[in-house]
Amino acid sequence: MGGNSNIKLIDDNGIRIDGRKVDELRPIKIEAGVLKNADGSAYVEIGKNKVLAAVYGPRECHPRHMQNPAKAIVQVKYNMISFSVDDRKRPGPDRRSVEISKIISEAMEYVVFTENYPRTSIDVFIEVLQANAGTRCAGLTAASVALADAGIPMKDLVPAIAVGKVNDQVVLDLNKEEDNYGQADVPMAMIPRTGEVVLLQMDGHLTYDEFKYAISLGKKACAEVYEIQKDALRRRYVVESEAEQEQPVSVPDQEA
Ligand code: ADP
Repeated sequence: MGGNSNIKLIDDNGIRIDGRKVDELRPIKIEAGVLKNADGSAYVEIGKNKVLAAVYGPRECHPRHMQNPAKAIVQVKYNMISFSVDDRKRPGPDRRSVEISKIISEAMEYVVFTENYPRTSIDVFIEVLQANAGTRCAGLTAASVALADAGIPMKDLVPAIAVGKVNDQVVLDLNKEEDNYGQADVPMAMIPRTGEVVLLQMDGHLTYDEFKYAISLGKKACAEVYEIQKDALRRRYVVESEAEQEQPVSVPDQEA
């Protein structure tokens, strides 16, 4: 977030450097159940971001002193792998990944019916394979589909998207250049069924009116992401179970 409004990122026709309008999302692709060995998984592409999420559990919580006798804990580990950015990223956790893991855990803990699974841990691993701004939103979007894929009861799926300000205009779903040289970046996530916001951060500055408009833009975009999330789960379960039913039934040989 450089806040450098001299760099022209939106042309005179209101078109951004990647050809989008200010209120347009990058192309989104979501697939559920992509990993065989996890209890639940999802793959998300938002523009050039590529993110995998895997869920294990509910399973016995270790270390034991972290167990909660009343409910499950949701432990999220967000990681950007070395080749996810232009310069090789130093492997291992850093302040940023610890922060992102924490905010995604808190959002997920709010939607999962944790009281159904006392003393257990639900572990969510988010691996960013390719990063281009908005990875925490892509990670959270993937995590909630992976939790649903694992059959863990939740209030709802959690779509997430970033809004922000570039060249004095409120824009939706910032790309890397807009994130670097824009004036504000506001990642947000919500529960569409209730309208509750479960993640909201702000880097940079917005006026009150810009903030109100940015949130309304983000809410509309979350509704679009939500449909794509549901569609991914529908494809995984409805289409696959229909395909199974259509399998030809083998009839045992009749004795003459
Ligand atoms: P988000 O990915 O949620 O937008 P940030 O705003 O912190 O989170 O990061 C914006 C973008 O900056 C990332 O998506 C990634 O493309 C890039 N980035 C973040 N950390 C690094 C890093 N250590 N090395 C190179 N690029 C990075």
